[in-house]
Order: sequence, then structure tokens, then C-alpha cells
Amino acid sequence: MNVKILEKDQLKMMFVVEGVDVTLLNAIRRATINRVPTMAIDTVIILENSSIMYDEILAHRLGLIPLTTDLDEMLPDTTVILKLEVKAASDNQVVYSSQLVSSDQSVKPAWSTIPIVLLKKGQRIQLEAMARLGTGSEHAKWQPVSVSAYKNMPYIEVDKELWQKYDSKTAENIIKSCPKGVLKIVDGYPTLANPVNCTLCKYCEDISNGAIKVRWRDNEYIYRLESTGAMSPEKVFLKAIDLLISDCRNISSQLENLEKGVDVSG
Ligand code: SF4
Repeated sequence: MNVKILEKDQLKMMFVVEGVDVTLLNAIRRATINRVPTMAIDTVIILENSSIMYDEILAHRLGLIPLTTDLDEMLPDTTVILKLEVKAASDNQVVYSSQLVSSDQSVKPAWSTIPIVLLKKGQRIQLEAMARLGTGSEHAKWQPVSVSAYKNMPYIEVDKELWQKYDSKTAENIIKSCPKGVLKIVDGYPTLANPVNCTLCKYCEDISNGAIKVRWRDNEYIYRLESTGAMSPEKVFLKAIDLLISDCRNISSQLENLEKGVDVSG
């Protein structure tokens, strides 16, 4: 198996993986979305809310604010309290996520500029929110990723006989018709200059009347992962793999015990 990182920063990661079965890649993808634990606000005690926003909506908005999560430092029952106390000194005052004060500096809003509510002069909000670890299988607010998806690596085949029938102007128009601009003419024939950006829309197939055929490799994938900011994208991916490995080990040891006649029912 080969893995090649194409892009990586604090929030996003894109890589090519070759020689992997799609079932395994899909299991990892699903685990990144709904198995990797993250912190999110789950209980809110509203002591005062004179804004026009209902308490339930306010609590819902708080739940969807991504919180930084360091899984290495946390126990499954870790809880953190975040407090918000604000009184608007003027009209149209926006309350931002940065105004939430956390009892644990390692668990705080991943982004400081998420608007929570708009206040008029004199309106007040005072609340205490409890964040806990959860997973995306329980609620989307615990998903550590906003994007976790893969696509097959595309390539094109060219019917050279058909292509040669096009005059240079028509050929150029076909190349330019690609909405992602990833086609190029090299030595008189079209090539896929940037396969990563090809969306497999097949428009080039239609417009070239089949002179270009879009294909994809069955065991080569482009994977794109974007974190909500809760943790780095590679941490999400590696944790998802860890969880799957531990599931497999668990099944394997249970089966071994069954073979040995050990009671595993409890
Ligand atoms: S499949 Fe779509 S994106 Fe890919 S090369 Fe053809 S027209 Fe461009």
C-alpha cells in the first residue's frame, strides 16, 4: 500500500492511497464520522435569557460549537463547564463563541468568531453549559469532521483516430469545456493534467462524442478530510484506525476464547 500526502494543514488533509480495498477505506471513513469521540456541549442551564432567542434554540446553537478535544488527556467521563455571562451595552451586540469561559483551557471553542445570538441594549444572557465526550453516532454535534470522503483516482483514455478528426479549434474548445480546467493537450492529444481536481463529471466524454473516455482506478483513491477544529485531521484519521483495530482484536480474542471453551457471554 502507498500513501502520498497532497495537502495538509491544521484543518485539512488530502492524500492519495493506493493498493487498498474500498471496504476498508469506507470502514475508516465511517469511523472518522461516527466513532471518534469529541467534546460538545450537551446540557445547558439557562439562568437568564432576555434575548429574543428561545432557550431551546440558544442551547442548540451552543451544542453545535466545535470544542477543542485532546483525547490523550481525557477519560471517557470527562466533563467541562463553560459559562457565558453578558449584558449588551448597546443595540445589535453580537455574542461570540470567544465569550464562553471554560473551566478547562484544553476544552474551548475551536473558533472564536462563531456568532451565538444578537442582543439589544440591556438584554442579558447568563448560562452554564456542560460539555462531555460523545460520538457522531449519537448526534452530529459530536462529529470531529465536516468532510471525510474519497473518490477513485480518475484517468482518461483517448480514441486517437476519432480525436484526429477534430480540427484544432474544435479540439481546443473541447479541452476548454472541462469545468475544472484539468485537461491539457500534450503531443496533439488530451491528457488529464490534474486528476485530483477531476470530478468525474464526464462532460468531456459527451462533448468529444466519445473521443475522450473517463475511467477510474479501482484500488487508488483520493481521500479528503476536513476537521471541525476539534482536533487535527491526522488525529481523527489515526484514532478511527485505532478504534477499528481494537474492534478486530476484541472479536478475535472472543473467538479464541470460544474455541478454548471459555464462557464469553458475560
Ligand atoms: S470528467 Fe469532468 S472534470 Fe474530469 S476531465 Fe472530464 S470534464 Fe473535466
